[in-house]
Amino acid sequence: MFDPSIITLNGKKGLVTGIANEHSIAYGCAKAFRFLGADLAITYLNDKAKPYVEPLAKELEAALFLPLDVSVEGQLEAVFEAVEKQFGQLDFVLHSMAFAPKEDLHGRVVDCSREGFLKAMDISCHSFIRMAHLAEPLMPNGGTLFTMTYYGAHKVIENYNIMGPVKAALEAVAQYLAAELGHKGIRVHSISPGPVKTRAASGITDFDKLLEEAAERAPAGRLVSIDDVGLATAALATDAARLLTGDTLYVDGGLHILGVG
Ligand code: NAD
Repeated sequence: MFDPSIITLNGKKGLVTGIANEHSIAYGCAKAFRFLGADLAITYLNDKAKPYVEPLAKELEAALFLPLDVSVEGQLEAVFEAVEKQFGQLDFVLHSMAFAPKEDLHGRVVDCSREGFLKAMDISCHSFIRMAHLAEPLMPNGGTLFTMTYYGAHKVIENYNIMGPVKAALEAVAQYLAAELGHKGIRVHSISPGPVKTRAASGITDFDKLLEEAAERAPAGRLVSIDDVGLATAALATDAARLLTGDTLYVDGGLHILGVG
């Protein structure tokens, strides 16, 4: 028989980045990780974001609550140092962040500035490589690294613009990391939620229209919630998913099989 502990995260330690407020996809994931028994370190962007994230970190009984702006020199390293001090090791990391300067996000890809492209790639993609690099030595018994992507990486989704190529790079990064770290038992997944009304999503032109279309067309007959995304992600962090790696997992009620985001 199977050991029942295979589908829990009891005693596991995880780092969750990207909670901005109670609508954040990362918050849905953090709730599910905690529900399955994990102890969490949670980050917030800066002092402005702190009051929105702090009550959520308290509710999740976070063992660590730390600032993290990946564009601030040394802050990511400081987070991993604190995690090592508190937990000694890590079992999973959630990377759930994206950014592109407004003018580049709202413009055509053909007009994207070099500066905007580099910034979007740095914050939304290279930061995942940096996290994996810092997590590797803290995962001597293996672990799982997650990043959040979107279907616009594969097909042209109106108004997704430069984030499409950025997410395509992110998914490729996840696959290469999975190949490089697999022999250490470190698994890497891109999670691809269907559209969810969040702060980041509100930066995309006509996002409400995308939501409406998704709700109408999804085979599941409804939009996904952050809890749906969280539960699927947390399930992948358990030992029950120990030989799954390198995938893009769509949590979108089946939208991607129709070829729509
Ligand atoms: P959100 O606004 O709640 O979260 C975005 C997070 O990115 C915020 O917590 C913000 O603080 C963080 N962030 C931005 N710049 C940062 C920096 N320099 N350093 C550290 N953190 C930074 O929105 P969300 O929709 O929950 O976004 C989370 C992830 O999910 C993103 O990667 C997004 O592209 C992805 N995603 C969202 C949807 C959707 O429809 N909302 C769909 C698919 C994928």
